[in-house]
Amino acid sequence: MTAVRTVDLAVIGAGPAGAAAAMRAARSGASVMVFDKAPYGRDKVCGDGLTPRAVGAMEELKIDMAGAHPIRGLRMIAGKQVRELDWPTTDRFPSHGAVWPRRRLDAALIDAAAESGAEVVWETEAMPVIEDGRVVGVEAGGRRVEAAMTVVACGAQGPVARLLGAERVADEPFGLAIRTYAATPRHADAHLEACLSLRDEHGTPIPGYGWMFPAGDGTVNIGVGALSTMKGFKKLNLNTLLEAYRRVVQDDWDLGPNLERPRAWRLPMSAERRHGPGWVAVGDAAGLVNPMNGEGIDYGLESGMLAADLFLDDPVTAPARYDRQVGERFDGFLRTGRRFSFLVGHPWILRPGLRLSVSTDAIANITLAVMGNLVDNTTPGAAGRVMKMADGALGLADPVLRKTRAKG
Ligand SMILES: Cc1cc2nc3c(=O)[nH]c(=O)nc-3n(C[C@H](O)[C@H](O)[C@H](O)COP(=O)(O)OP(=O)(O)OC[C@H]3O[C@@H](n4cnc5c(N)ncnc54)[C@H](O)[C@@H]3O)c2cc1C
Repeated sequence: MTAVRTVDLAVIGAGPAGAAAAMRAARSGASVMVFDKAPYGRDKVCGDGLTPRAVGAMEELKIDMAGAHPIRGLRMIAGKQVRELDWPTTDRFPSHGAVWPRRRLDAALIDAAAESGAEVVWETEAMPVIEDGRVVGVEAGGRRVEAAMTVVACGAQGPVARLLGAERVADEPFGLAIRTYAATPRHADAHLEACLSLRDEHGTPIPGYGWMFPAGDGTVNIGVGALSTMKGFKKLNLNTLLEAYRRVVQDDWDLGPNLERPRAWRLPMSAERRHGPGWVAVGDAAGLVNPMNGEGIDYGLESGMLAADLFLDDPVTAPARYDRQVGERFDGFLRTGRRFSFLVGHPWILRPGLRLSVSTDAIANITLAVMGNLVDNTTPGAAGRVMKMADGALGLADPVLRKTRAKG
């Protein structure tokens, strides 16, 4: 194989995380190549929900969001309790979110990367090339492309992660989620809906939630997600769970039939490594998904931008600095989230916990902040304080929760 190209940055994966890294680097004059094994216009199995944090990242990237359906807040349902709250006004993030079906969202992002000068190669699987323990670029479509740094933006870990030793941490939780679309007269609703008291067809509570995310185009994205910490996770049938949830929301939303076959995918919530000589992992490839809601578009955009900024600053030290800075921003919060997922894996904790989560406006506002990815290691105010306290308490309980975790 001959070296046919040399670029500054090679990016594997053209989802939000890869597009953000490519765009940011190309806009500063770096030569960038992005590879995706899927064709242009590919869909991603997703709820299509953009948190206010994601909208903030889109604004930072100067992406025109005219095509997205704006969202004012979240309706949380736990049993018979319903609480509808608007996203909070803070000086850190915008006070609105959006729903933007991924086919269109991801096209808008990668088009912006291409307009910024990144070369995007579709239908081409790329694999890192490792020489003397260092990633020196990628092999893709039968040619070699050398790069000062390679950004691994491949989504939920697969062959690339295996090659780099960057798979999910075996003992840590992960999620599975499934979604489809259906026509509804309520397609232009201004609130997302999350049913926190999800039950399977036998009435057993599931740690996870069901969602109705109105897309503003005649349809709603309907889906369910569950955490691997639940009893019986290996036998969980997501199609059946989705059908059970559909029956709950059918009348309220006057739902039409499924517009496509429901599709499921993984939600990675950890990674053994997210950097090494010559490479960094961003977005899902780095396990950056909130264990408390399964959302990761915002973290993908932020980590992609961070990787590019550090690369532009100094390519040689970028991977180590990236790992440190992404850790400072997310690790504490994600650790709390993973501990929380062991907690709610216990049904006798899940049930009262859910009632509590929306019991008063003050507590529901904290639930809202967590569900909107508005909390991280530096969040001020009640939500930040509660998360810090929760991290301490869950830290103490963690060994017991892991030991007593439900099997199977
Ligand atoms: C059912 C479900 C619902 C979800 N709902 C939401 C939601 O509402 N809001 C939210 O914020 N998050 C949600 N998420 C999570 C969200 O989808 C991910 O966090 C997000 O897509 C991560 O973006 P990414 O760019 O890291 O990876 P991806 O979007 O997965 O993109 C990875 C890309 O890499 C390409 N690729 C992989 N390997 C290679 C290779 N070797 N060579 C070339 N290309 C390769 C793939 O084709 C793909 O295009 C949901 C996830 C699921 C499963």
